[in-house]
Amino acid sequence: MGEHRELSAGEGMSRAATGRVETGGDPPARIDTDVLVVGAGLAGLRVARELSARGHAVLLCDRRADLGASIRTTGIFVRRTLDDFDLPETRLGPAIRRVHLYPPASGAGPAAPLELVSDRDEYRVGDMSGLYLDELDRARAAGVRVLLRTRFTGRTDGGYLLARGPERLRVRARFLVGADGARSRVARELGLDRNTQLLVGAEDVSPVRAASAEPVFHCVLDPVLAPGYLAWVVDDGEHLHVGTAGYSARFPGGARRALERFRAQAPGLRAEDREPADVERRGGPIPVGGLLRRISSPAGLLVGDAAGAVSPLTAGGLDPCLRLSDYAVDCLDDALRASDPGMLAHYDGVFLRRKFAGRVAMRQMLALVRHRSVMRVGFAALRTPAGEALARRIMFADRSFPDTPAVPASALSSSLPGSSAPPLDWVHG
Ligand SMILES: Cc1cc2nc3c(=O)[nH]c(=O)nc-3n(C[C@H](O)[C@H](O)[C@H](O)COP(=O)(O)OP(=O)(O)OC[C@H]3O[C@@H](n4cnc5c(N)ncnc54)[C@H](O)[C@@H]3O)c2cc1C
Repeated sequence: MGEHRELSAGEGMSRAATGRVETGGDPPARIDTDVLVVGAGLAGLRVARELSARGHAVLLCDRRADLGASIRTTGIFVRRTLDDFDLPETRLGPAIRRVHLYPPASGAGPAAPLELVSDRDEYRVGDMSGLYLDELDRARAAGVRVLLRTRFTGRTDGGYLLARGPERLRVRARFLVGADGARSRVARELGLDRNTQLLVGAEDVSPVRAASAEPVFHCVLDPVLAPGYLAWVVDDGEHLHVGTAGYSARFPGGARRALERFRAQAPGLRAEDREPADVERRGGPIPVGGLLRRISSPAGLLVGDAAGAVSPLTAGGLDPCLRLSDYAVDCLDDALRASDPGMLAHYDGVFLRRKFAGRVAMRQMLALVRHRSVMRVGFAALRTPAGEALARRIMFADRSFPDTPAVPASALSSSLPGSSAPPLDWVHG
């Protein structure tokens, strides 16, 4: 345990630890490792680092050349994440306590918002480029071998195949981890469940030009500009994020076009913000069908978006991806130490998924709203005391993802299939 063994092709991709790749040979270079992690988003970086810190040999690959570029997320971290995970203070923007919810705009412009103000710091937007690069450094420092610009392409005889341009690396791993996002290739290779319900999101990020009075998270519920979800403006005093997400089939002209239309009328923007000069474009798919059921096999498991670990209602995935990753690490660590692939059966989406039932139902209701008039009627209900209480519960939630505490192997064995005891100690539903 804990050592990579390079088996052949002396100068081939086996020099992975330095990130340098020499000319590939034929047959491909080969490496043995304990765990191959595919995808260096927040989930993959965390799993790789934690497993390496526990003494296991970990190879992490990502098809991107630069983890600080091509960001796909707004990077809003919720209070629970900020409380429970040690995100570096320097990578977090100012705290946001104020949320403004809007119904669809009418001809007269944006309607008056429902204003929700918390007495706690609810959100902070991460400098995601910096966070990913910090996490990469930490993973390397923990001993993870990282291969960037390297794509997982599937199985090959007795292992998995990685490709970087014309070069190939054959990896024999005791376990494979799919941290490769919403459209996971690893899920397919392992025969696990795959995301079928996806939103598509598009966002522009620009520097804030004039200091705002107080950081505000504006959310517009509009089934035309954000079909099945919402459009947003986040101004945390440092960066301005303007985005929309929805079911791609229901975006007339695509999400980017809807974003342009939204920008023209979005609340919280000054005239100069409607045509910003310096814009970073972000976007990507968001799985909202709830945690997948089959997320492990004796060969490996899925984490993050690949496992569908995103709140079906709020589409927040950063907190779930961190929590599920920690649970995956515990399960993999147990299985590696016991040399028992069967132990990955404990990493079970069926039980976890039940905890999302309420949010899956609310997502389905939101998806049914296709007309602005219907949304306006529904929104009026949010302005009642009961409606506002519900909105506060959703926006300022104490719960996000079921807690997945480290469970010793001995305790897990009492919850093997057939036992009536739930395998985990749930803190919330
Ligand atoms: C527009 C948008 C805004 C969002 N905003 C928020 C937000 O504000 N707050 C929040 O909580 N959530 C948000 N989410 C969701 C959240 O960003 C994701 O749930 C989370 O980032 C998922 O992390 P991950 O590590 O699982 O996947 P990813 O970050 O997608 O990482 C997957 C990695 O796998 C790599 N990869 C894929 N296939 C291969 C392959 N074959 N070989 C090698 N590498 C591969 C990719 O290059 C990528 O680096 C947002 C999502 C979108 C699309």
